[in-house]
Amino acid sequence: MRIRKLTAWHVCLPLKRPFSHASHVRQASENVLVECVLHSGTTGWGEGVPREYVTGETPRTCFDQLAETCLEEQLSGEFDSWKDVITICERFQPAQTDKNPRDSGSNALKCAVELSILDAFAQEIGVPVSQLVNHFPPAQSLRAKINEVRYSTVIGFGRRLRNKALKMRLYGFRHCKVKVGAGDDDVSRLRTIRRWIGPDVDLRIDANEAWLPDELPGRLEPLEQFKIRSVEQPCPHGMLTELASRKSQLALPIMLDESVTSLGDGKRAIELGACDSFNIRLSKCGGYLASLRLAALAQHAGLGYQLGCHPGESGILSAAGRHWASSVGGIQYVEGSYDRHLFRQLLTHEDLTFGYGGRAPALTGPGLGVTVNPQVLRDVAIREQTFPVS
Ligand SMILES: [Mg+2]
Repeated sequence: MRIRKLTAWHVCLPLKRPFSHASHVRQASENVLVECVLHSGTTGWGEGVPREYVTGETPRTCFDQLAETCLEEQLSGEFDSWKDVITICERFQPAQTDKNPRDSGSNALKCAVELSILDAFAQEIGVPVSQLVNHFPPAQSLRAKINEVRYSTVIGFGRRLRNKALKMRLYGFRHCKVKVGAGDDDVSRLRTIRRWIGPDVDLRIDANEAWLPDELPGRLEPLEQFKIRSVEQPCPHGMLTELASRKSQLALPIMLDESVTSLGDGKRAIELGACDSFNIRLSKCGGYLASLRLAALAQHAGLGYQLGCHPGESGILSAAGRHWASSVGGIQYVEGSYDRHLFRQLLTHEDLTFGYGGRAPALTGPGLGVTVNPQVLRDVAIREQTFPVS
């Protein structure tokens, strides 16, 4: 097998309802899609969610990097086995004009390109992408076969908190994440949510970098009464040392999200003793393989890990996340597969939205198991460019 070309699209996917957290409000999601075409004619799809405030990327930087990268040198080799395709994927190192010091300045692009190649390859050999974990030595200790994934729900800001919490309870979710840090009413918000979601739902909070390390005891202690399991990214990602020095005074376990975008970030967090777990997101962390490496790192260090998502992921990343979550053991929480809850019009023919209780089956068809609806793609595309490979 050989790659003939990659085509990239910058798409703007309108959201049904605006989504807000402590650092952003979003009405639409600007994503990058990549289609990988093999010489056999088989095509695979990938997706990345470039966010300037997370990895420093924008859709424009993704296109610029693709144009500046020597794809012929990196991606033109033959591949007929998992080992070969993994080598090709890991050889892909996009050219970066402003070198990102955290080594994550092309993570969304890497994710989009890598997924498109893995999808094409796995289709060609007739197996699901979830099989990859069996052929990737760094992930051997993570291998698992999970037939049903249980997704967590999330409650953002806005009104009708009681209705939202009650809806989540009636829908049978086991896990719920609550966005905090955008005002001074977190105690009353959590009180309402706990009251209406019930005592048994596992609640955790995400502050999206809202607080300074010195503020943490005062911010977190009043929330502990609501049986909170962990706090995600309480401080700005650059304040890891300060967070680590405060950690022993905090009762709540810390999950890092914006602070962990690469293996280097993960190692530094472990060295500093800054956290108890990582929020791994395929696009943020540079793709399927890099995310497996990060999960293995966390596991070896005795930390937890969850599979998170970006609000605004289409069915392509939902599918990739499903494959990952159904083949990796020990994941604390899984987020994603919001498809129909997020979009009026789905980009993929397949609807991967989770069902009652956040339940969704493992995908067993070849490749990622999704196909893009060309009509919807035409409607949402802002830019399209083809890059020849071999
Ligand atoms: Mg987060």
